[in-house]
Amino acid sequence: MNINTVIDAVVERDPTIVSVVGAGISKASGMPTFRGEDGLWNNYRAEELATPSAFSKDPKLVWEWYRARMRILLEAEPNPAHYSLTKLEEENISIGIITQNVDGLHEIAGSKKIVEIHGRIRYARCVNCDNIERWDSSTKAQKDIALPYCHKCEINLLRPDVVWFGEPLDPQSWQQATELTMQSNVMLVIGTSGVVVPVSTLPIYAKQNNSIVIEFNIEQTPISGYCDYSLLGPCEETLPEFTEILLEKMK
Ligand SMILES: [Zn+2]
Repeated sequence: MNINTVIDAVVERDPTIVSVVGAGISKASGMPTFRGEDGLWNNYRAEELATPSAFSKDPKLVWEWYRARMRILLEAEPNPAHYSLTKLEEENISIGIITQNVDGLHEIAGSKKIVEIHGRIRYARCVNCDNIERWDSSTKAQKDIALPYCHKCEINLLRPDVVWFGEPLDPQSWQQATELTMQSNVMLVIGTSGVVVPVSTLPIYAKQNNSIVIEFNIEQTPISGYCDYSLLGPCEETLPEFTEILLEKMK
């Protein structure tokens, strides 16, 4: 697919862009996939640890695993794909990012309107009260060898502020995601195979809303059939190229 053909179609729309983002965008930032290549944790699968039942059975084990992930995360930095989305927002062409990633790299790249539908690994929340605390290498939750307790109610455990396997999405985040989809006329689907429900329904809503849907992925995916265009290749290369030409053509 010639990138200029895609961009001409976008320019013709006077675009209002929303992006749906998955793990593929963070690969170039050194984020390991959920499968984790960290030797110590090779014997565990994410589906066994990132669950409410694993946490109630052995919260210490789950927290140790998240701390290991956090140590890797702290080394990661946004890559040109993240910065491209920030640029589109600064130029008032993008109205939001709907991300499945919990790594917080969009925020570090300077993006403002971000819907983190799977939560945020840099935050912890109380299992009982409404308290949410930031936690990273400098905070108590990260340093503690024992289990981190809520600093508000002081009797309940903190848990990572992410959506675990088997848990529903936060209804407010999901509403924001669908609203952004309806308010836009171009959807970029970046680094996600789109097979995870309900995120996979957003490109379908976008199509029903008569939006142009453009996929950025290393290879064809199960949703390629829904997309008007697929730009194949590493998104840290294709997205900056797309953004640069688009902004040039919209001058
Ligand atoms: Zn609490």
